[in-house]
Amino acid sequence: MIEAMRSLWQKLSAVFGKLFATGSSGYLCDKCKWDYGDACTRPERPNAKTCPDYKHR
Ligand code: SF4
Repeated sequence: MIEAMRSLWQKLSAVFGKLFATGSSGYLCDKCKWDYGDACTRPERPNAKTCPDYKHR
């Protein structure tokens, strides 16, 4: 019983970890739609932790 609960918890943790991950670097730019070429000229690129123009790819 405890082993089953532990297994379930590990699966749930993996799912939620993927849902809320900010990427391995933790920078928004790594998963931002505007992170290519000259699409974004903000000075915080490529290391933005917060950004009003961020849009998920
Ligand atoms: S819009 Fe913001 S999050 Fe996106 S690439 Fe530019 S600085 Fe990074």
